[in-house]
Amino acid sequence: MKYDVPFIRPVLPSAEEITSDVKEIIAANWFTNFGPKERQFATGIGNYVGQGLHAVTFASATLGLMAAMRVFIRPTSHERRFVIVPSFTFAAGPAAIRWAGLEPLFIDIDPESLQPSLEAARGAITKYGTRIGGILLCNTFGIGNPAIREWETLAKVENLPLIIDSAAGFGSTYADGSMVGSAGTCEVFSFHATKPFAIGEGGAVVCRDESFAQELRAFTNFGFSAGQGASMLGLNGKLQEISASIGLRQLDKFDAALRDRRRTFRKFEAELPSDVFRFPPGMAESSLCFASAVLPNHELREAALARLERDGIEARAYYAPAVHVQPYFSSAPRMDDLTHTLKVTSTILSIPLHQSMRPHAVQSIITALTGKMH
Ligand SMILES: *Cc1c(COP(=O)(O)O)cnc(C)c1O
Repeated sequence: MKYDVPFIRPVLPSAEEITSDVKEIIAANWFTNFGPKERQFATGIGNYVGQGLHAVTFASATLGLMAAMRVFIRPTSHERRFVIVPSFTFAAGPAAIRWAGLEPLFIDIDPESLQPSLEAARGAITKYGTRIGGILLCNTFGIGNPAIREWETLAKVENLPLIIDSAAGFGSTYADGSMVGSAGTCEVFSFHATKPFAIGEGGAVVCRDESFAQELRAFTNFGFSAGQGASMLGLNGKLQEISASIGLRQLDKFDAALRDRRRTFRKFEAELPSDVFRFPPGMAESSLCFASAVLPNHELREAALARLERDGIEARAYYAPAVHVQPYFSSAPRMDDLTHTLKVTSTILSIPLHQSMRPHAVQSIITALTGKMH
């Protein structure tokens, strides 16, 4: 079905802008392998997030997550195999854990913030002890975790790497005003066409430690280090010049794009009754890939989805089903029965929130959701 209001509507540079960049790349005859556009883009991403940070570009965030698992988590035989990860997330993170020969240990979320539960992580550490090799925290919906400093303290005290999947969160800020991308051992971004910062396919891992950044970069290039050939396990995960040139164009316009998305969110927040549509805290300071609200019960969520569908609006329920109920991950260990995760996946509603969203589209969503639903 073709929707009047699609769930995602990427805004990429114009055909003229892309054509002019492609001409430049062809004239330079340098298409990939850390060319001038990629070098400039990596620097731009690092600077955007903050001082003293190193950004390593990838052909996708999933490859970045795989590299982070490989570089930061060092299992010793069968010890330290488990990686704490929420089940309420996108499956790429748990998949990256398994690609690295590790095993996801699913934890529940906090029902208020919808972010991974710190209490559940503490419980997992108590129960599994030295069998835990790291934490994959997810900044759910790209929202900076409101308890990020507590997570950093926990990871430090337990001597565990804290890898953060901030795939949709480039441009978001934490509660203390620092940028998402600057916390933990490293943070991973996606620049997929569906994200607020879209280049098509691409991603980046941002970290403070320069030698780790070098290892991450070597991972994208077959594990090669200068003059020696392969010195570690790697693959080909490089970002090519055309993609980097799109990224450079997007960086220039990104602050204006963010302001625009946040304006639209404030409109949704003002017009949708807060006793029915509960947006998680921190959403207004995030980069807003889309807008997810928890509804009072499953029936109301289903009714809302049906009304949006009827009015030609494409809506979703992110992240449902939870990862631990997906067949490939159903055998993975978990802490307790993930009650809050299951409840939220049955009551969450994700509505479109585009860059430069037409007022008519915003209004049609509000009308569909506030007309008689009960
Ligand atoms: C989009 C997304 C990914 C995957 O990003 P790719 O660039 O498509 O590999 C991973 N994790 C989360 C939370 C995402 O939203």
